[in-house]
This record gives sequence, structure tokens and C-alpha cells, in this order.
Amino acid sequence: MTATNRQIVLKSRPDGWVTPDHFEMREVSVPDIGDGDVLVRALYMSLDPYMRGRIGTDRPPADRMPLGGPMEARVVGRVAASRNADFREGDLVFGSLDWADYSVAAGGGGLRLLPDARQDGKPVPLAWHLGALGLPGMTAWIGMQIAQPVAGETLFVSAASGAVGQIVGQIAKIRGMRAVGSAGTDAKVAFLTDDLGFDAAFNYKTASPDILSALQSCAPGGLDVYFDNVGGLLLEAALDAANLRARIIACGMVSQYNLPREQTTGVRNLPHINRKRIRMQGMGVGDHGHRQAEFLDEMAGWLASGQIRYRVDIADGLENAPTAFVAMLKGENFGKQVVRIADDN
Ligand code: NAP
Repeated sequence: MTATNRQIVLKSRPDGWVTPDHFEMREVSVPDIGDGDVLVRALYMSLDPYMRGRIGTDRPPADRMPLGGPMEARVVGRVAASRNADFREGDLVFGSLDWADYSVAAGGGGLRLLPDARQDGKPVPLAWHLGALGLPGMTAWIGMQIAQPVAGETLFVSAASGAVGQIVGQIAKIRGMRAVGSAGTDAKVAFLTDDLGFDAAFNYKTASPDILSALQSCAPGGLDVYFDNVGGLLLEAALDAANLRARIIACGMVSQYNLPREQTTGVRNLPHINRKRIRMQGMGVGDHGHRQAEFLDEMAGWLASGQIRYRVDIADGLENAPTAFVAMLKGENFGKQVVRIADDN
């Protein structure tokens, strides 16, 4: 074990676009552990849009990541030392830990052993436990239950090639729906239709400013479900294209997270919610932790059968996490963004 532990800490709070300068790396000693604790060597770390909300000033102080403290992330790692009967040295675990080489899970809190999940007969890549089998996969799974899908209906999902969106569209296909996605490059659009089996997809950047026409040509019968990951102009187009009694899952609005309030997009057609009897519902995956075992079981089955495929985008090195975080918020990721902190050997 090395004597030093690198951590990435929050140096200042962004107001507007976050940059790598809002973070800094520091070196501390690898901590000792007490009774019940587990020391985890991080292998892969997840970068998620929600982190932007937790480093700014919009949330109540209790919800903010502390200034000067290590950033928090979902991590897959190996137990480096344990004084907890539930975990042994060498176990592969998942938990909410620091942006760091090593973290202590006090009392083993929040840690769980990785489930056995396979595709094509082989264990899935470790990084998938932060994506398809992690918080994004569960977000898609819960959101699709709230959406109450019906076979034959049409679903539209934005940020469709991302961590959550890939799963949403594939669950829609499993449920017998027509799946339409939007993404920010032609390569991502081709991935949706050619690799993931979406029925249609479009590049919202090249379609802009007439996003509605592009959406309507992909969904000529209108939308029954819109799974909203981005908000703004895509939400506006989805409201225009929505059918009577459509459901909108307000999962996230990443297009707005880095904008000061006066620059955020005002959605101009909200009266459709009333006229079309639309049900728009916000969701938070954190409300559904008690269903994790059920989720893991169903997702592992879909991965094993090949009904769900998954793409990750790996940035190498803890020191590159801030740059990769900002790039992900700008759409430069292609698939679920993770950081490889160490090789698993
Ligand atoms: P992701 O899709 O892997 O990455 C973010 C993506 O957002 C980028 O790749 C980019 O893709 C897209 N994007 C960025 N700026 C945009 C803009 N101005 N307009 C349109 N698209 C833009 O991230 P994720 O982890 O799957 O998260 C997706 C959404 O789900 C986020 O809003 C997140 O906050 C939300 N979420 C919610 C919950 C919950 O419990 N409610 C849990 C997890 C995630 P393009 O190339 O397509 O632009």
C-alpha cells in the first residue's frame, strides 16, 4: 500500500459554468481504520450530472459538497483492509466514497459487494456497475415504471446515448414501445439506431433551431412518453409533439445546470400540459433505495440475455477527473462517463 492518498477536493463554488479550476488535488496519508471500518482502493469512479447541483449555491447548504473537502462519488473498488466481518480484503465493492485513491467506509456504511452480472457468458466490465447496474441504470428502471409504458406507444428520450438514456430506450423496446432518441453528434445517433435498436434518432444540434420537425419526422404518430434528461428546448419540442394523456418523466435538465438563472431557457408552451392532460412527474432515484435488489436482479437478467447493451466512456487517472467532469456536462462523453483510478491487478 502507498503511504499517500490523492484526493480531489472542491476549491470554490461555480456560478455558471464549472471549470477544472474549481477543484484541486491534495495528498494526505492513507487513513487508519477503526473497528467496523473498511478501507477501499478505488478502481473506477462515476461522474454524474447531479454533482454539478451539489457543488453550486442553488441547493440548501446541507445538500452541498463541502468546500475544501473531498468530492463524493459512486466508486467500484477493492477492499484494501477491513475490520468489518461483512467485508474481506480483496472483495470487490460498490459504495459512495471520495474522489480519491483510498476511502474509508465508516462501519462499512453504504458498501455492498458487487453482484454477479454477466454478458455473453463473461462477467460484465467493472465500470458497468457504475452505469447499467448503478445509479443511472436504476434511474432508468424506476423512471420507466413511473412512465407506465404500453406496448405500441412511442417514447422519446433525450441525452439518449448517455448513462441513463441508453437504458431508457432499451427498456422501452423490451416493453414493446417504439423508441426515439436525441443526441448531440451523428456518431451517437448512429449508435442508438445501429447498436441499441432504437427505432429512430436525431442530432438535436444539427436540427436546431427546428428541433420539432426532426422530432416529428422520427415520431410521426406523436409522443406518449417523454423521458426528459435535458429540459430547455427539447422539453419544449416534446410538449409540442406530445399526444393526449402523454407522460413526461422529469428525470433531469442538464442543459440548464451550468446557466445562471437569468440565462436559463423559459419553456414557452406549458399550456399543453393542461390542454393535452399531460402528467409530468419529477423523480429522484434516491427515493427508491429499498428496491435496489429487485432492480439488480432484473437488470442482471437483461444483461445476461443481451437485451440490454451498454457503452462506457473511460477517462484515465484520478488527476483527470475534473476535466472529464466538465467535458461530460458539455456532451463530450460517449456513453456512461467513468474515471479509471487504478488497474485491477
Ligand atoms: P449523460 O447523459 O451520460 O451525460 C450528460 C449528457 O447530457 C451529455 O453527454 C450530453 O449529451 C447531454 N447534454 C449536455 N448539455 C446538453 C444540452 N445543452 N442540451 C442537450 N443535451 C445536453 O448523463 P446521465 O448520468 O445519463 O444523466 C442524464 C440526466 O439524468 C441528467 O439530467 C441527470 O441530472 C439526470 N439524472 C437524474 C436522476 C434522478 O434521480 N432524477 C438520476 C441520475 C441522472 P449530448 O451529446 O446528447 O448532448
